[in-house]
Amino acid sequence: MNGAHDYDLLIVGGGMVGASLAIGLSGRGLRLALVDAHAPGDPAQPGYDDRAIALAYGSRRIFEGMGLWPELAAEAEPICDIHVSDRGHFGFSRLSARDEGVPALGYVATARQLGQVLQARLRACADVDWIAPAEVVAVAQDDLGAQVTLQGADGEPRTLGCALLAAADGGRSFVRRQLDLPVRQWTYGQSAVVTNVTPERPHRGRAFERFTDSGPLALLPMSEGRCAVVWTVRDEALEHVIGLDDAAFLAALQARFGYRLGRFTRVGRRASYPLQLLRVRESVRRRVVLLGNAAHTLHPIAGQGFNLGLRDVAALVEEVLTAHRAGRDIGADEVLQAYRDWREDEQRQVALATDGLARLFSNPLLPLRLGRNLGMLAVDLLPFARHRLARRAMGLAGRQPRLARGLPPEGAGP
Ligand SMILES: Cc1cc2nc3c(=O)[nH]c(=O)nc-3n(C[C@H](O)[C@H](O)[C@H](O)COP(=O)(O)OP(=O)(O)OC[C@H]3O[C@@H](n4cnc5c(N)ncnc54)[C@H](O)[C@@H]3O)c2cc1C
Repeated sequence: MNGAHDYDLLIVGGGMVGASLAIGLSGRGLRLALVDAHAPGDPAQPGYDDRAIALAYGSRRIFEGMGLWPELAAEAEPICDIHVSDRGHFGFSRLSARDEGVPALGYVATARQLGQVLQARLRACADVDWIAPAEVVAVAQDDLGAQVTLQGADGEPRTLGCALLAAADGGRSFVRRQLDLPVRQWTYGQSAVVTNVTPERPHRGRAFERFTDSGPLALLPMSEGRCAVVWTVRDEALEHVIGLDDAAFLAALQARFGYRLGRFTRVGRRASYPLQLLRVRESVRRRVVLLGNAAHTLHPIAGQGFNLGLRDVAALVEEVLTAHRAGRDIGADEVLQAYRDWREDEQRQVALATDGLARLFSNPLLPLRLGRNLGMLAVDLLPFARHRLARRAMGLAGRQPRLARGLPPEGAGP
C-alpha cells in the first residue's frame, strides 16, 4: 500500500452504510478513517432516527459475517410472513419463512437501534480513526489518491489523503455534487408518514403491505406487540395527515388497513419523509466509490434501500481485501471496475423494480389495477414465482460475497 497517504481508505459518512463498511474492513491491516458531521452518539444524527428498518434475511447473514448479529438479534423482531394485498380488490399474496426454509424472511429494528449497535462496535475498532464531528468541505482526486478537506469543531480546515475514498454521505451527498457526478432523479409527489401503533391482536411476526387508493401502506412487526407503520401519502394530503389528532389518525389508518389485527389502540410520534428515486450514473470515479443513499436513494415501498447498500458494502469489502492481500493498490481502477461490474446489474434491477412497484401501486387506473391483482394472484398460486420473489426480496439471489454467506471476510485472523 502507498505509505504516502494518511489512510488506505477514508469513508465520508457514518450512517448505517458508512459504519457497516468501516466495521467490515476493520481488523485486516488497512488504515481506515470514518468522517461524519455528527459526533458519535449524537441523538440528532438523522440517519439514526426512529424509522423502522426491515432487514432482509440476506442482511442478517452479512451482519453474521461481521460478527454483529448477536447484538442486533437482541433488538430485532423477526418477520415470519409477509401479506401483500390491494385494498378492496381480489389480489392477495403471501410469503412465508417456513415455505422458504429460513428462520425468518427478515427482521425489523429501528434505525436508532441499528445505530447504537454499529456505533458501539465502531468504538471498539482500534484501526478506524473516527473523526467526528467534522464536515467534508472539499474533495480532490488524482491518479495516486484522493484528498479530503475537513472542518472540525475547532473550525480549522485540514486535508487528509487516501488511496480510496468511499462516499456514504447520504442522499444529498456532498462528494457526489463536488465531483459533479450526474444522477437520474425524480420525485413521486408522495411522502412517507412513519409511526408505530399498538393493535388489539398480536401481530405474530406478520408484515403487511397493503395497496390503497392514496398509496401503499406497510405494517411491520415490532417489539412489545407494536407495529411500525410506513404510510405513503400524496404530498397535498401530507399536512392534513400529520395534523390529525391521535384518534383521527388512528381512525384514518384503520379505514385503510382494515381490522385484520383488530382495533389500533395507541399511536407513537409521527415523522414524514419526502420520497424520491435517485441513482448516480457512475457509482465509481477515479479513486472514489459512492455507496448507500449517495449512490441510490429508493422509495421505501419494498424496504430495499439499506439492504441494497449493505450488499454493496459486502461486495466492496471483498474486492478491497482481495486487492490488499495481493499487495495491489486498493484504489486502482481495476478494483473499482470489478466492484462496479459485480454490483451494477442488481443496483439497476432493484431501483427499477422499486420504482415500478411505487408507480403501479399508486395508480388507480382499472387496467393497471386488474393487472397487479392478477400478478399478485399469480405469485400466490405459482410456488416457483413466489420462491423467486422471496429469494430476491431476501437478498439471496445472484453472486454472494463471503460476508453475505455469513462468513468473515477473507484475510481474517486464525
Ligand atoms: C421512511 C423510510 C423507511 C425506510 N425503510 C427501509 C427498510 O425497511 N429497509 C431498508 O433496507 N431501507 C429502508 N429505508 C432506507 C434507509 O433508511 C436508507 O437506505 C439508509 O438510511 C441510508 O443510509 P446511508 O448511510 O447511505 O445514509 P445516511 O443515513 O443519510 O448517512 C449519511 C451520513 O453522512 C454524513 N454526512 C453527510 N454529509 C457530510 C459531510 N459533508 N461531511 C461529513 N459527514 C457528512 C451525515 O451526517 C450522515 O451521518 C427507509 C427509508 C425511509 C425514508
